[in-house]
Amino acid sequence: MRMILLGKPGGGKGTQATLLKEHLDVPQISTGDILREAVKNGTPLGKEAKNYMDAGKLVPDDLIRGLVEERLSQDDIGKGFIFDGFPRTLAQAEGLKKIADKLGISIDKAVYIDVPTDKIVKRLSGRRSCACGAVYHIESKRPKIEGVCDACSGKLYQRDDDKEDVIKQRIEQYEAQTMPLIDYYRKEGKLVTIDGDQDIDEVFNDIKRGLGI
Ligand code: AMP
Repeated sequence: MRMILLGKPGGGKGTQATLLKEHLDVPQISTGDILREAVKNGTPLGKEAKNYMDAGKLVPDDLIRGLVEERLSQDDIGKGFIFDGFPRTLAQAEGLKKIADKLGISIDKAVYIDVPTDKIVKRLSGRRSCACGAVYHIESKRPKIEGVCDACSGKLYQRDDDKEDVIKQRIEQYEAQTMPLIDYYRKEGKLVTIDGDQDIDEVFNDIKRGLGI
């Protein structure tokens, strides 16, 4: 299964991608995680991306296309992959098509996790992250010990772009740049829409049902 997860920031893409990765035994490719790692390691990509990320703006398409092409050339994607947070613009979707054509593959499904905007601010401002990739929420998905990751015992932190002033910018960015992708994949006959305003397990079950997996 080669799939894309679409939806607003904080709409549950990362959480569902982690569950789907286990279920399907394919890698989860999160451009946000790859960029955060690059920023942490101070690579040239990280240095270029940091200012955009801190401001809640999208990193330029050519940088993203380069990192996706490199990721898809690795040899662990034979059984498929789950994109989480990519594509985010029409240009990225077209770029993905070109890369996939070159590799002789195609995207099977785009799952759109639909969550109302008023729920997003609450979700994002309460989100706490771990460097290992695990994500929690101060109300709906608490770790067993406050501030400590269940998976690796790392210290949880609030992402700089999960603070309220940046959240607003990210939502505007999503509406202007990413929302058109819903129609794009609908026209391609690949769109599966899921009600994301439910418990994590219910969303996951709906996705499995929608994909027939
Ligand atoms: P995320 O973890 O997916 O919310 O991404 C965090 C930040 O990384 C975004 O606000 C963007 O600045 C950047 N980013 C991640 N994925 C992309 C992408 N596909 N295109 C452009 N910017 C991205």
